[in-house]
Amino acid sequence: MDLSFIQKPEIQQLLDRAAGVQESGGNPRLKAIFRDLTQSVMELIVKHDISESEFWGAMQYLAESSAEIGLIVPGTGIEHFLDLYMDAKDAEAGLTGGTPRTIEGPLYVAGAPLVEGDVNLSVDADEGTQTLYMSGIVTGPDGEAVEDAIVHVWHANSQGWYSHFDPTGEQTPFNNRRRIRLGKDGRYAFHSRQPSGYSVPPGGATDRLMQALGRHGNRPAHVHFFIEAPGYRTLTTQINFGDDPFAADDFAFGTREGLLPVPSRQGDSAYIAFDFQLQRAVTAGDEGFSSRARAEVAAERQVEAA
Ligand code: FE
Repeated sequence: MDLSFIQKPEIQQLLDRAAGVQESGGNPRLKAIFRDLTQSVMELIVKHDISESEFWGAMQYLAESSAEIGLIVPGTGIEHFLDLYMDAKDAEAGLTGGTPRTIEGPLYVAGAPLVEGDVNLSVDADEGTQTLYMSGIVTGPDGEAVEDAIVHVWHANSQGWYSHFDPTGEQTPFNNRRRIRLGKDGRYAFHSRQPSGYSVPPGGATDRLMQALGRHGNRPAHVHFFIEAPGYRTLTTQINFGDDPFAADDFAFGTREGLLPVPSRQGDSAYIAFDFQLQRAVTAGDEGFSSRARAEVAAERQVEAA
């Protein structure tokens, strides 16, 4: 059997009916996408001669994997693909330059304390790891200091766990999570307990997929950022530690050229100097965030002295 089977009138009519093509109600864009998606599934079935048992095995996997969808999407390369696609569309529109975007990942929590100055991100002691000192300036396309930016920063602890998502239950809420309000000079500085890389949950849906693909599920140590400022395009990015064993082999494809600083490590301290460059906002939406669903917790203290 070849793919011409999909073009049979009986199959094409089935696709039209399934996608509600002839129905007056519903969302036309969704109908078109849904029809193509359904046809793509049918083509996969024919191309790989997928059996009924294999197909229902895949459905079972999807049903069981919903809690890890935020790991499966980056692990399969789709989240990085979205970045590459947005980059390519930007290039077509003449929007180039600035710090590269990279994947958000699933572990941002809205509502982190809003702080100013030279900020300490780590509330918990987290012994046995270095103190990370990271600082730099946020500029715009012409090198101008970006005024009144807010830097959202979040990272794991030395065990690779994020506050709010830590199964040991040992982290203080918003440990290693802050929103840093910058001033007129665009400068930021924070210190924290140096994070470790992490792996997907052993035995979970992502791990099972990675094993079936002969891959691992490890990320290098990294620090996530959103940077927003009036008049500028919100940047979603992260730095990955260039000296991490997985720096060049990130299962989530989050590492990118220009985002791999190698810390200067001296004794108990690690230093990273890193400047961010934002693009100017072109449309009002550029200053906002994608509408991706994110965890949200009300911060007890909206502003605290650093
Ligand atoms: Fe992360």
